[in-house]
Amino acid sequence: MCRVLRPTVLCATLTVATIGRADVSSAQEQPCCLREGLRIAEEYRVEAIHRRRFTSNDLWDALEPWLAGPEVRTEEIARSVEGRAIQAVTFGTGPTTVLLWSQMHGDESTATMALADLIRFFAEASGDPLRERIASGLTVTMLPMLNPDGAQRFQRENALGIDLNRDARRLTTPEARALKSLRERFQADFGFNLHDQGVRRTAGPEGLQVAIALLAPAADEEKSYGPVRTRARLLAATIADVLHQHVPGRLAKWDDTYEPRAFGDLMQQWGTSTVLIESGGLPNDPEKHGVRTLNVVALLTAFDALASGRYQSANPETYEQLPFNLGVEYDLILTGGRIVVADQESVMADIALAYDDPVAGRELRVEAVGDLSRAEAMDTLDISGLFVHPTPGWEGPSGGVPGIRLGHRAAFTVRRGTSAESEVVREFRE
Ligand SMILES: [Zn+2]
Repeated sequence: MCRVLRPTVLCATLTVATIGRADVSSAQEQPCCLREGLRIAEEYRVEAIHRRRFTSNDLWDALEPWLAGPEVRTEEIARSVEGRAIQAVTFGTGPTTVLLWSQMHGDESTATMALADLIRFFAEASGDPLRERIASGLTVTMLPMLNPDGAQRFQRENALGIDLNRDARRLTTPEARALKSLRERFQADFGFNLHDQGVRRTAGPEGLQVAIALLAPAADEEKSYGPVRTRARLLAATIADVLHQHVPGRLAKWDDTYEPRAFGDLMQQWGTSTVLIESGGLPNDPEKHGVRTLNVVALLTAFDALASGRYQSANPETYEQLPFNLGVEYDLILTGGRIVVADQESVMADIALAYDDPVAGRELRVEAVGDLSRAEAMDTLDISGLFVHPTPGWEGPSGGVPGIRLGHRAAFTVRRGTSAESEVVREFRE
């Protein structure tokens, strides 16, 4: 009965098992840094940061043990609108300069968690061959929370309501100015613009949920490939090559329309080869620790390839051939079922459902009812021949079909027949 177009919420366990198998079979023969990255992500995880939502105080308190020593250098580079410290952490003394910034959108914290883990690794893993290659080849400066005021509220914008990623040209905010001036000071050769995207995105039409989306942003309206953007594309291809082995079918690329107010695009113009990494979602990953791990793998892979120069031999087609990142409206559509209505003929209607918290998969709501054959969802479940029974006790004060009313929590049971006694196929009750 579970005919699915995409691995569904219902079949999520199966999906995770598939990922695990792909990992085991391919990790052994591959170049750095899938195997190393997975190990490091686990071994050096900053356990105090275990929820998606945390404040700048939480972050810097958690990192304190690793910032005290000489292995990494910490510097307050600016204060936010509300006076919170914006801090950068630098590791390595190599000739190639790399600048990473995360959480310029305050509610996009996955890469911040990954940077915390990398800071711990750099501070603690003296003698580790990968760490030493990075230390001698690169100078890595990490800005793990560019928008602490936004993080405090878990909102995208800063305290003034300004989207920092539309302030790269005007530089009206202290946060945007901090990032720009850090780039100028370091004359960063490479940049990583680290974000989270909505989890209702698929890798192309009918594709799997996107775990990571990449972009080598355009530096001009023509989307031309000068040397700076060309290097960024090679780096993105290097990352895609390694992540493919671990999460096949779950990578995508962003549309590269030029946005002259965004940091990624302007960094490229300013001479810093920049890769955008967007953290999406994985099945059963409510706090995004799986995607956090993917960030650690991606960044270590990039660092190693930059330190060795190996990225230059990447195939740009690995990036170009990634499917586009497509947004969909709903989490689940039940198609072909009939809604049982008291004292009337049952009504044929598809039902679209969406989570209030799509990352955690919590609070399922009814969003649309009717002929939804043109609608897109992360998952589709064909319930043709089955009957949808509104759950007794959930009837609201007025109107509509009880338990299946728009905007209300899902409260119904899919049964084999019209009788309330017939066999239950699945219950939706939040
Ligand atoms: Zn963002």
